[in-house]
Amino acid sequence: MTGTRTDFKTALENGDTILVAEGYVREFGRRGYLKMGPFIPEVVLDYPHLVQNMYEEFAHAGSDVVEALTYYGHKEKLRLIGREDELEKLNRSALKMARKVADDHNKWMAAGICNSAVYEPDNEKALRDTKQIFQEQIEWAVEENADYIIGETFNDYGEAALALQSIQEFGKGNCNLNTSEYAFAVGLPAVITLTAYFPDVTTDNVPLPEACRRLEEQGAAVVGLNCGRGPRTMIPLIKEIKKVCKGPIAALPVPFRTSDECKTFQSLIDPETGKSVYPNDLECVRCSNSDIRNFAEEAKEIGIKYVGLCCGNCGQYFRELAEAFGRRPLASKYSTDMKKNQFLGATKGNVNNTRADLIRDFVYGNNRNENC
Ligand SMILES: [Zn+2]
Repeated sequence: MTGTRTDFKTALENGDTILVAEGYVREFGRRGYLKMGPFIPEVVLDYPHLVQNMYEEFAHAGSDVVEALTYYGHKEKLRLIGREDELEKLNRSALKMARKVADDHNKWMAAGICNSAVYEPDNEKALRDTKQIFQEQIEWAVEENADYIIGETFNDYGEAALALQSIQEFGKGNCNLNTSEYAFAVGLPAVITLTAYFPDVTTDNVPLPEACRRLEEQGAAVVGLNCGRGPRTMIPLIKEIKKVCKGPIAALPVPFRTSDECKTFQSLIDPETGKSVYPNDLECVRCSNSDIRNFAEEAKEIGIKYVGLCCGNCGQYFRELAEAFGRRPLASKYSTDMKKNQFLGATKGNVNNTRADLIRDFVYGNNRNENC
């Protein structure tokens, strides 16, 4: 985006494609600033400047949205590590930094809420506690001027519906009812993404396309899937969701090579050892940049309007995705150009680089083909 930022809902109504970088939690785990397992974003409290830098990185790589790092930044998770008294500080700090980076780069700022870890259907107390977790995070998001709220990684339809209801009840921010064709929506727009595991149904037994259809009908501005599955196993289900929904659909897979045998990144195995790779050995099953481009092309062809990547995302992938959508983010200045490599990019028999042919032979060995 350049120039003045369009209202988020207007952009959706105009049919604009919105690119969204997620995956901060895993990336901070990979970099050694967040404990894998509990996945609590303590980095916001301990190293806030790094969080701001990561917001910058993804904006630079082409994300249209800066999502505040409040994933698992809720009461239950902070209680687990004895930092409950820093709950508000964590949320406000993550939101304020996201707002600043979004404004500096002319992006939208999204607040995030997620599965609560206390939700239980048919348990009144659990439902009350879950709603309270949502309420406080949503109210901070409104006060810190979020453009919209993401409710993500729900595996229960019931919890996703409760999140949506909470956003509608407590997220009364930049209300713009006049231009909305999603008549039930009030207050801040809600993007609700569910996580699909092996079966194409939620853990409370609603087929995922039907769950998305209901959430859309209840007023979510965007519905779809994030996390859990990689591009290869998410796309077929996204196609089914697209058939039953009227509005914009979200697809934010994890950039790992999931398959029919291993539909989720949690279930992936090391092709060499046959051992489980989640969460520490996932590097051996990462998508290639070309995989990401293929995913982007397919999403474009299907007409997915809210596209991104979740856990495993990094700047290089996101730039690839953005470029596949015809964007030129700031990071494109540094896109790969092997033609300018002094050895591998030199033409055969180049008189200006007499060593190039020899070095190429050394580098490629017997694997040399017409592309090398
Ligand atoms: Zn994820």
